[in-house]
Amino acid sequence: MTDDILLETRNLETFYGPIMAISGISLKVARESVVTVLGANGAGKTTLLKTISGAIDCKKGQVIFGGAEVQNQPPDRVAARGIGHVPEGREVFPFMSVHENLVVGAWGRHDRDAVARDMEQVFAYFPDLAEKRDQMAGFLSGGQQQMLAIGRAFMGRPKLMILDEPSLGLSPLLTKTIFGIVRRINGEQGVTILLVEQNAHAALQVADHGYVLEVGRVVMEAPGAELIESEDIKEFYLGKA
Ligand code: ATP
Repeated sequence: MTDDILLETRNLETFYGPIMAISGISLKVARESVVTVLGANGAGKTTLLKTISGAIDCKKGQVIFGGAEVQNQPPDRVAARGIGHVPEGREVFPFMSVHENLVVGAWGRHDRDAVARDMEQVFAYFPDLAEKRDQMAGFLSGGQQQMLAIGRAFMGRPKLMILDEPSLGLSPLLTKTIFGIVRRINGEQGVTILLVEQNAHAALQVADHGYVLEVGRVVMEAPGAELIESEDIKEFYLGKA
């Protein structure tokens, strides 16, 4: 991990019609770090990630990625710059095989040997997917679909992977496995990670740094290890009042 900043948002404001979903979010993600954004239902986590990836436009503020302003650019252009979005609910292509989903993730890449190597790397990280490479993605379990969504984003060779509630609907054991792989993708492949979660326990285990969102604003920020020890976090997010 370095102090070099890969992603920064400055005073980001995003609306749905008249509803302000995020109201002035500023955060920094250091290159090769894992940063988590915690928040309850409706805090603005999904909106934040969608604004970063270009899926929705912001009204004010900036998204600075690799030194360039990327706010309000089309999602394909943001992806081509190196941001891989793993959306909430996985959104794998259900009528395509596991292999085909991964090929789609490599769209735009022409380095065939490297693509083949990366696909084997995905199967090494997620042996469940290797066994099911020819099965339709719609028949995978929720956990396997989450693995596939991460693998598909990895196939784009992103500099930054943003993950929207990867633990949603998964057992604690599966959540631990998937978060362990995310940490390995970060450590072994140098991919910077920004993940948003309601599951503070799982997210803080792997995070170098964390932010807490409430009703569209950052209310707390600290190194991951400090947040785990914070009394407020224990009370509101870790169930230890
Ligand atoms: P969750 O954990 O439920 O996904 P979240 O932290 O990701 O929550 P967002 O989905 O970003 O929160 O929602 C932030 C706010 O914006 C909430 O008040 C929500 O009701 C509102 N909102 C989200 N999507 C829309 C939409 N399409 N139209 C109107 N309001 C929306």
